Amino acid sequence: MSVVISQIDHFINGRRVAGSSGRHGEVFNPANGAVEKHVPLADEAEVEAAIAAAKVAFPGWSETPPLKRARVMFRFKQLLDQHHDELARLITLEHGKVLSDAHGEVTRGIEIVEFACGIPQLLKGDYTEQIGGGIDNWSMRQALGVVAGITPFNFPVMVPMWMFPVALACGNTFILKPSERDPSASVRLAELLHEAGLPAGVFNVVHGDKSAVDVLLTHPDIDALSFVGSTPIAERIYAEGTRQGKRVQALGGAKNHLIAMPDADLDQVVDALMGAAYGSAGERCMAISVAVAVGSIADSLVAKLAERVKLLKIGSGMEPDSEMGPLITAVHRDKVEGYIASGVAEGATLVVDGREQHHAKPGFFTGGTLFDHVLPEMKIYREEIFGPVLAVVRVADFASAVKLVNQHEFGNGVALFTSDGGTARAFARQIKVGMVGVNVPIPVPMAWHSFGGWKRSLFGDHHAYGEEGVRFYTRYKSVMQRWPDSIGKGAEFTMPVAK
Ligand code: NAD
Repeated sequence: MSVVISQIDHFINGRRVAGSSGRHGEVFNPANGAVEKHVPLADEAEVEAAIAAAKVAFPGWSETPPLKRARVMFRFKQLLDQHHDELARLITLEHGKVLSDAHGEVTRGIEIVEFACGIPQLLKGDYTEQIGGGIDNWSMRQALGVVAGITPFNFPVMVPMWMFPVALACGNTFILKPSERDPSASVRLAELLHEAGLPAGVFNVVHGDKSAVDVLLTHPDIDALSFVGSTPIAERIYAEGTRQGKRVQALGGAKNHLIAMPDADLDQVVDALMGAAYGSAGERCMAISVAVAVGSIADSLVAKLAERVKLLKIGSGMEPDSEMGPLITAVHRDKVEGYIASGVAEGATLVVDGREQHHAKPGFFTGGTLFDHVLPEMKIYREEIFGPVLAVVRVADFASAVKLVNQHEFGNGVALFTSDGGTARAFARQIKVGMVGVNVPIPVPMAWHSFGGWKRSLFGDHHAYGEEGVRFYTRYKSVMQRWPDSIGKGAEFTMPVAK
């Protein structure tokens, strides 16, 4: 029986456009391993067509009053609510995560749209009158121009929505180059924006790989780039983009620790680790991949975790009782399992081996893996695995735990579980990580705060969304004006007297 493979389109200048480069990528359903769609991989001419459309649309959109831009966002938010389920299903079909996770992702994306609805207030500048005789000084923030977003596979709806609602509300036009592994949702987002009243050319989606990104990186009409993905690529995008004179924020990889103090609530820690290490099969940049067991908690923590990891229900994300879906591709699954082999070879204790679930079903499945007695010099500790593998590192005390985290090259997220307020306070102050949770395993900031790591988890000055996002997508301008006092010197304003 021949399988019909559907073709995904670009979205340029207000409409779907079929790819014309002659190159395409395969989009799998990771739950059964089948290629179900082809995604076009844009050539230079296709990327340039999107840039040209965005450039033409910029003057009109940036001159549109902020309140009218906000109204488009309000309508977009209503459409997202109506299409919540459709978007979540698209995510699960191409990414593999369980449907409840996919719904959560859509919700977190919508929150950024809600934040962007407040753009009239967010763009208000400052004003100082009479800084000298007849002279006033004020400030304003203006849109940059055409900006591009390059996004990873693990949140095909949420991560693009960290970027474009804020960028568009600020008055920029936008080109999204989504991950070529799960690209369909981005085209639906473009259609919904169009339906919400966004003019043609203001938001465009171009699919592609490195070749498409290279055009965005070097094209003189791109003013800024937001990137989210792995650290080697983030570093390159930042270096090359800034060399080209562009504003760049590039968010990279992670190795997030959860520190379990001896006074922590053990059941709470185990629940937190089950969700944060194995949820979405560990393919989250805020996933916890290292549990730092401090002192006496280690033995009971590992024993309880082992019981729970063995019980994880692995299956298609579409099945309601699945707790963990497949990995994104067979290549990635094999890479994750390669890390498990390296952990064993380096002498870590393999408590639960997820590879035993590998052949249980068709599709890119592996089970949850748990390592104990992991040492900082081991590869499974140093490198980002991006799969359902949790490494337990045992340390003697709080100071050693903080030192361990602070010495890691990544600094995205971290969590501390304790029942002591003084320890929590010291931790929040001493830890060199961008997003910190206390008794909260995945401290993703809300839409009106901002998301970003430290060290090699972020290249650039601005975190994503929130007020940092508004700053990234606008230029600050200070205006000073002098006018002769045409009313006449000494004319004074008198308060009317109530009668
Ligand atoms: P990736 O770096 O492979 O790809 C990210 C984007 O870059 C994709 O759009 C891809 O097409 C493009 N790309 C790939 N190779 C390229 C190249 N050589 N030159 C230019 N562009 C290229 O990342 P991924 O596998 O899609 O996503 C997983 C990674 O993303 C993990 O490292 C994860 O930690 C990270 N991530 C980080 C955050 C964060 O907020 N820090 C959030 C989500 C994901």
